[in-house]
Amino acid sequence: MPCIFVSRDQFPSVLYEKLRQVGELRVYPYGKPAWLTAGIPKDELKRAAEECDAMVVYIGDRVDAEVLSNARVKIISTVSVGYDHIDVAEARRRGIVVTNTPEVLVDATADLAVGILLALVRRIVEGDRLVREGKAYDIWGALMGSDLRGKRAGIVGLGNLGTAIAKRLLAFGAEVVYWSRNRKPQVEFALGIKYVDLDELLATSDFVILAVSLAPETRHLMNWERFQKMKRGAYLINVARGAVVDTEALIRALKEGILAGAALDVFEVEPLPHTHELTKFPNVVLTPHIGSAAEDTRRRMAEIAAENVVRFFRGERPLYVVA
Ligand code: NAP
Repeated sequence: MPCIFVSRDQFPSVLYEKLRQVGELRVYPYGKPAWLTAGIPKDELKRAAEECDAMVVYIGDRVDAEVLSNARVKIISTVSVGYDHIDVAEARRRGIVVTNTPEVLVDATADLAVGILLALVRRIVEGDRLVREGKAYDIWGALMGSDLRGKRAGIVGLGNLGTAIAKRLLAFGAEVVYWSRNRKPQVEFALGIKYVDLDELLATSDFVILAVSLAPETRHLMNWERFQKMKRGAYLINVARGAVVDTEALIRALKEGILAGAALDVFEVEPLPHTHELTKFPNVVLTPHIGSAAEDTRRRMAEIAAENVVRFFRGERPLYVVA
């Protein structure tokens, strides 16, 4: 029977049940120390790649060229849609199949995107703190925020996630524009949203929402030059990947008042240290990469990640192959 490595023992049980149908599992006991470093130790990943036929991993597990340097593994299944933690080019070169779990997590992540946008622009987190701290407040003047109706939301990256966010923001009465590598005339027509180039999006949007995958072309897409192009007083929302934003440039944009605030579910370094400068801004909402952290969604992701492996060992095409 093939050896299947699973990088943690806390995935929904369906994942282990399905995988046991086709192989013998080697499950990494993912404890608290590992959580503090986001993924499992590199030498454990390397050993798994050398000794097992399949690996099931999550976004903190960095499967780079060194991990694959002596690999026997034939399939890497990530329980996520993003696969920037895997050196896909190297995997492809070695004939290793890489699979992911798109689509099922789109609604949950779009919900979170709108949730943190609202938390930011309506100052919900600040309001919660103010009430708990027992400070005096004026019920007319306290914590004035921004409307959504009539404001322009600019979505960067109109894939599944960007499209789902667009639908939600339209329901709130916002005007939605987007920029994406490939223009999507059918989505434009179906939703009534407008394509603009990135400079125009940045210059005119009240809310800029990042929903683009992390790739060499999108790393630090939001750099200082682009922050300077933003409408003054706009808000930035990032539910994509931390490295799509240059964190230093973001902090400068907050300090110089280019941004009225930011809502971030993802960071260049995860977990974000609680002493990080970003935690000092009252106008920044921070969530710990919980875009897909909803029970049914996570169960479906686990099921699909396992199904990809099951199909592979049965000689069928996995459901979602990225390389
Ligand atoms: P998707 O449907 O595959 O869409 C990918 C998007 O990224 C598209 O807009 C695509 O542009 C763009 N893109 C990909 N490679 C690019 C490149 N090299 N240069 C420029 N644009 C590029 O994926 P999705 O479901 O929308 O998810 C998007 C990303 O969100 C994921 O990759 C993941 O990193 C992140 N995400 C985060 C969470 C979370 O927990 N916070 C949850 C889910 C997803 P075109 O379509 O125009 O080609």
